[in-house]
Amino acid sequence: MRYLRFFLLFLLGMSLLTGCNLAEPIAVTATLETIPSIRLAMLPSATPAETPGRALTSLATPTATNPPPTETPRACQIDTSRPRSRYTIQASLDYATKAILVSQNIRYANTTGQLLNEIVLSVEPNQWANIFVLKSATWETANLVTQLVSTKLTLTLPRPLEVGCEADITLQFTINVPKGGAGVSLYHGYFSYGERQMNLAYWLPVVAPNINGAWLIYEPRPIGEQMVLEPADWDVSLEVTNGPSDLQIAAPGTIEQPKPGLWHIIFEHARDFPLSLSNKFRVARQMTASGTMVEMYSFPDSVRSLASGLVDTAQHALDEGARAFQQYNDLFGDYPYDRMVIVQADFPDGMEASGLVFISTNWFYRFEPGFQNYLTVITVHEVSHQWWYASVGNDSAMTPWLDEALATYSEYVYYEEYHPELKNWWWDFRVGEYNPQGSVDSTIYEFDDPRAYINAVYLRGVQMLQNLREDIGTEAFFRLLAEYARTANGQIATPQLFWSLLSPDQFNATSETRKQFFRDSQFGR
Ligand SMILES: [Zn+2]
Repeated sequence: MRYLRFFLLFLLGMSLLTGCNLAEPIAVTATLETIPSIRLAMLPSATPAETPGRALTSLATPTATNPPPTETPRACQIDTSRPRSRYTIQASLDYATKAILVSQNIRYANTTGQLLNEIVLSVEPNQWANIFVLKSATWETANLVTQLVSTKLTLTLPRPLEVGCEADITLQFTINVPKGGAGVSLYHGYFSYGERQMNLAYWLPVVAPNINGAWLIYEPRPIGEQMVLEPADWDVSLEVTNGPSDLQIAAPGTIEQPKPGLWHIIFEHARDFPLSLSNKFRVARQMTASGTMVEMYSFPDSVRSLASGLVDTAQHALDEGARAFQQYNDLFGDYPYDRMVIVQADFPDGMEASGLVFISTNWFYRFEPGFQNYLTVITVHEVSHQWWYASVGNDSAMTPWLDEALATYSEYVYYEEYHPELKNWWWDFRVGEYNPQGSVDSTIYEFDDPRAYINAVYLRGVQMLQNLREDIGTEAFFRLLAEYARTANGQIATPQLFWSLLSPDQFNATSETRKQFFRDSQFGR
């Protein structure tokens, strides 16, 4: 343990909070400062083209002859098998100025059960000044009244959107991608550019979930994530100008490159659309037994010169990421896409997105042979978020334990299976070191100190899950996780749903555990 303590002390003062993972003691040394505004250079051909095939046909009033009066108006023939939101995006990225000009068409089916007079979107980049600039919002030919406050964009509709009908809205906007590695952007390196990489995650507006008639959207905080996202269909055309000719894109989904500098990506039923760009990537792939290609996008410096010789740490991350992937796939249900992407990222820690995870360059640099290292821990943690976030959603602001406790416990599940001799090491390294305190059912708004947040939600969270496992037995515990993953797939899950999957006897048998770890001893709120 001496080594580990030294390792942790070494990290102290270097590590900064980002993303979901919060692996190590964190010294928040960055000053929250406004990101310098980046000069916007509009592309010469800046007018976005119309998205093909989205001429509005759906809102015509039905007539007596066409369609027949008994037929549902075409406006309201929504396909309920598809997500409520479908996005068609044409983006032009000027790689020199880091400005992206975007035309985003939004097809939004009103399946809320209520007439809608407005639609609310979450615009993550607008939590910082001078990053997101809205040019227009239209429905057919009508300009919409818009109000953009922090990340909340409210579109007032020119007429109510009826239940079962679809709105066809187009936003035109510019994004000035912030430089990573300084000030507040350090916390959000997954949306930033650096010397050798541009990361674009949580960069596009999305329609907020509408739960029981209310739009679910929260104020961002530097600690934790507050985004609550529903699955959507994404059709993205990305043109890059003034970039290197050998630029590569790491992204999930189906990717075509019809010509140099132009990519077309389809990614369906996904809560977000992430990508990373670099001309320095090297790519390695591994097919899992279940038929998913796990892809590793790393930089050449992930080959490290260690005492034992040259070690390809990216290959290590790929091997362990793919093993964990297969294990989670077996335990928690089938991953829905053909590919999963792991990206070495030049920002601290790690971050999950749909179909893609970022792993900090720090963990590659600090790799030591074997499995007692953060590269392994963080890689499998992020991979598990493909289930505990991407598949099973939750309100990450109010009930962050639902994804983070399960993702952290999934680390243990991996060690238990593949490195059982390291089970105790994992508990000491990840949990015991910190003597965690706090209520597992805390919200992200209750903490000023990231360490206290991690201790309460992640670490007390895994202690609670271990207690739950002991309460009901290992077999029933994994049946519960599998049933939860199946039931809540594609949903925004609640603690009530999680606990409702226990039998009455099991529920009673676990009441002491809930009392011990939750303030709301019924379910954990
Ligand atoms: Zn996490």
